[in-house]
Amino acid sequence: MPETKKASCLFCSFQCGFGLEVDRGVPVRIDLDPEARQNRGALCVRGHYNLELLQHPKRFVAATVNRRRVPLGSALTKIAGAIADAKAGHGGGSVGIVVGTELSNEDYDAVVEFASKAVGTKNVAVAYDGSDLPLLAGGGAGDASPEDMDGAEAVVIVGDVFWGHPCVAKRIIASRHLALTNRIYTGNPSRTTTDWSADRHVAVRPGGEPLVLAALLTAMNAQGVPRVDLAKAAAACGMGAGEVEAIANDLKGKKKVLVLASTRLGDSTSAYLTGMLAAKLAHACGGKYAPLFRGGNAIGAHARVGSARTVPEVVKDVEGGKIKALLVFGPDVLQLYPGAFHADALDGLSFLAASAVFENDTAKRADVGLPQAAWTEADGSYSASFGIATTVQAAVAPQGDAAPVRRLLAALAEELGAPLAGGEARGEHPAWNVDAAAALARLASAGGDGVSFIEGISPIHRWDGAITGRMAFAQSLKPYCEIWIGEKTAARLGVHEGESATVATDRGETTIIATVTDRMPDGLVAIPSYVPDARSLMVWTPNAATRWFDVAASGASVRAGS
Ligand code: SF4
Repeated sequence: MPETKKASCLFCSFQCGFGLEVDRGVPVRIDLDPEARQNRGALCVRGHYNLELLQHPKRFVAATVNRRRVPLGSALTKIAGAIADAKAGHGGGSVGIVVGTELSNEDYDAVVEFASKAVGTKNVAVAYDGSDLPLLAGGGAGDASPEDMDGAEAVVIVGDVFWGHPCVAKRIIASRHLALTNRIYTGNPSRTTTDWSADRHVAVRPGGEPLVLAALLTAMNAQGVPRVDLAKAAAACGMGAGEVEAIANDLKGKKKVLVLASTRLGDSTSAYLTGMLAAKLAHACGGKYAPLFRGGNAIGAHARVGSARTVPEVVKDVEGGKIKALLVFGPDVLQLYPGAFHADALDGLSFLAASAVFENDTAKRADVGLPQAAWTEADGSYSASFGIATTVQAAVAPQGDAAPVRRLLAALAEELGAPLAGGEARGEHPAWNVDAAAALARLASAGGDGVSFIEGISPIHRWDGAITGRMAFAQSLKPYCEIWIGEKTAARLGVHEGESATVATDRGETTIIATVTDRMPDGLVAIPSYVPDARSLMVWTPNAATRWFDVAASGASVRAGS
């Protein structure tokens, strides 16, 4: 008899619950789960990929040494030997560990214990997508519950929450129709799907989102926040000071206010301030704050692994030769941070091991590749947005030799003679050294002529496209992907709807289909960050104050044809 097992989607931090129908151990169908507290039976396109992920013929199912298949035990012995050699030759600190944001809390606990006990390294960093880390550092994980979405009298949304997290959209829009007096205010550079639902869309410059929040807080005379020149900040957001004051008064007069925030690739200081000021705005209105993250368990990773070390710091130590051996659990760092993590730097390591659900570009370069279980193939607990704590049982057994990261680490720790005891890890978080007032002044005066690129977010892809790019629906629906370009800009550059355009930066160029739309303001072009060629046009530059990457495209241009 088929049975339906409860599962959670880790394609974003909303962690929608769903059912997985399993027939004699084989996953056969996705079922909706109306009892899931956050999504109440809704599931977006990406949620439906959870079935294909389990059945995908190209899953990474056997360990490799130099890309030749070997038994899992042999691969683990090879890794243990390489760690022992690095420790003996250069100390434990010569080993670095990078983990993705879809692991369970128990996996993160094991990573932290393994690093300190079996390796003796503090070089453990979380590979956050986009600006998840600065957003978390600025405003934390929020204080809203899913029920705060129901009957909110006003919702302030920063970022393209509706396309990034479609099931949040479903609940907010349903709530809007039930509470006819409510308002939705949004802030985005282009008119996104989120902004379509808004009473007022504030068209900010890319990275200028904190200015709107700071202007609203200034108009509210909120205490303990950086004050801005209201007229200047409003002008930078295409508004007058009077309109800022009107929105501020409206929000102050509402009994139930919800502030939502998500980020796109861009300025890490802006993302940090967005988190900080969005949380403060919610507080100033007596409301609640909920940030939405790209990484499914970004909140759990932040809480358990911490941010004492960051990916830009690990990259620096890999390139500088301090880190000799690197273990990567989950992410394809070459696709996630193109140009920041160089293939040459990985090739220059004495040893590289990578676990992954698919054999990605990082795993292909690894001395040892390990097949990693998907989140529905392992027991585990996760920390979602809106304060949801999710605990799930494995719905099916892992494919082939794939295993959860904590099991791989436990076996490695045994080989290294330091068995793991278990226990909950608590991450350390150094204070951030961001001058908010100076950063807001810089954002208010930013701008320029010519063409600028921003990240185009797609509801059918997960951010860097590392998993969703392999899904049949995404491949058949959008085989070529697209840029979005405004009508005026397209006319000026001779670019036509549905035809090829070449997008270029200082890092190179690629040809892609153009969608000409009135949703993009003049001069701004949205490029699909889920397509490796397009993503690699952006530059990931470490920021000393945020210890994260600022992502920008310098020398951006667009021309018709290839
Ligand atoms: S909204 Fe997020 S968690 Fe929910 S189904 Fe879509 S990708 Fe998964």
